[in-house]
Amino acid sequence: MAETGMDKIVSLAKRRGFIYPGSEIYGGLSGTWDYGPLGVEIKNNIKNLWWRMFVQDRDDMYGLDAAILMNPKAWEASGHVSGFSDPLVECKKCKHRFRADQVEDPSTGLRASKCPECGGAFGEVRQFNMMFQTQIGATEDESSTTYFRPETAGGIFVNFKNVIDSFHPKLPFGIAQIGKAFRNEIAPRDFIFRSREFEQMEIEYFVRPGEWEGAFEEWRKNVHAFNEAVGIPASAVHELEVGDGDRAHYSKRTIDFEFDFPFGRKELYGLAYRGDFDLQAHSGASGVPLKMVDAEGEEPVMPHVVEPSFGVDRTVLAVLASAYTEDELGGEVRTYLKFPKVIAPIKAAVFPLLKNKPELVTKAREVYTMLKKFVPQVMWDDNGNIGKRYRRQDEIGTPYCITIDFDTLGEKPELKDTVTIRNRDTGEQERESIHNLLSRIV
Ligand code: ATP
Repeated sequence: MAETGMDKIVSLAKRRGFIYPGSEIYGGLSGTWDYGPLGVEIKNNIKNLWWRMFVQDRDDMYGLDAAILMNPKAWEASGHVSGFSDPLVECKKCKHRFRADQVEDPSTGLRASKCPECGGAFGEVRQFNMMFQTQIGATEDESSTTYFRPETAGGIFVNFKNVIDSFHPKLPFGIAQIGKAFRNEIAPRDFIFRSREFEQMEIEYFVRPGEWEGAFEEWRKNVHAFNEAVGIPASAVHELEVGDGDRAHYSKRTIDFEFDFPFGRKELYGLAYRGDFDLQAHSGASGVPLKMVDAEGEEPVMPHVVEPSFGVDRTVLAVLASAYTEDELGGEVRTYLKFPKVIAPIKAAVFPLLKNKPELVTKAREVYTMLKKFVPQVMWDDNGNIGKRYRRQDEIGTPYCITIDFDTLGEKPELKDTVTIRNRDTGEQERESIHNLLSRIV
């Protein structure tokens, strides 16, 4: 059977050490994935770039890393305990459970009225809360129940007052957080697109009441700028204005940014104007006023909020899908990942032409050590012939391969201290001086 684009990405991701099924030797755990040595580098590159663009490079942003476990009252106030649920249906015959709004008839692709597994009849649709519950401490009573956070935003709202008290920011300003979130999805699927444990990068951007539209527009553009920076092409990203009936009641505007994933056009990120819903709710439930003085002599105000919400794992998947390329080079079909430099898990690989010539190995080690001091994501490879090493590096998206050969050692005196540097996308090789290598690869 022909492999689909998605199958190829999943198998490359596993084979080359990007992403493995969670707990694989025990038969896996549905909705969990483990990032391997190269996957964790990509994920860190994505998170670091986001943090740099949206926190460190700006004067109006504050970073945060709040606890995953929170006082359950926070989730009652935010409405998650009562309302963070998906519609669930169960087949009366085989007991298989489905998300009622996503269950499809495999032959028509339309909403199924019978169980797609066995043809059995569905029971009543009921609401299924997606938060994972856990017990805090040694006693198991209701007072010890809390939840694994289903989004990072909650931690931001409960720290609003702390940040105000420590830094006295003026509006508009934002608080950003990157971290794990957990949802007991009814039907985890599509690789890392919908999992039960994932990571989010979220911002609550606080504005004066009535001044949200400018901030909304700015963050709309920022979402596109981020996509461009990580190598997700604008042509594959589509804005979906969420209609009146589908938006939360407190939101005057929400945009879903959808990406053309190999399995269809699906949500990548969200951007929502949330009014003062969250600060009001937490203020009311905690009894702590969540207002701030924005200008001397003015009454304290409760800011309104614009919330861009990015999924780390969906970014990784969109980046992989965008980078995955098959072409022909030197008469051979090859697969390569066309990552932008900033995302590539390995920026350059260093090879001695032959691994059994100590003088080549010593010189190559010298170059490798020098580069690695400044660019940690550099790799050593001396296994197999150069052609094979190129293919291997292409498959993991390494932008440059650097080969140390006899000319580097001065066999041709005019080429002493130069190396071959080979470009991933074009396959072209050039001679370059060792002195210039660092500036070429960063
Ligand atoms: P969906 O409609 O696909 O379930 P959502 O609208 O519930 O997503 P949000 O609550 O807006 O998602 O979460 C913000 C972001 O977190 C999403 O845009 C997505 O990038 C990411 N995200 C949400 N749920 C998951 C999940 N189960 N697995 C991976 N990423 C997720």
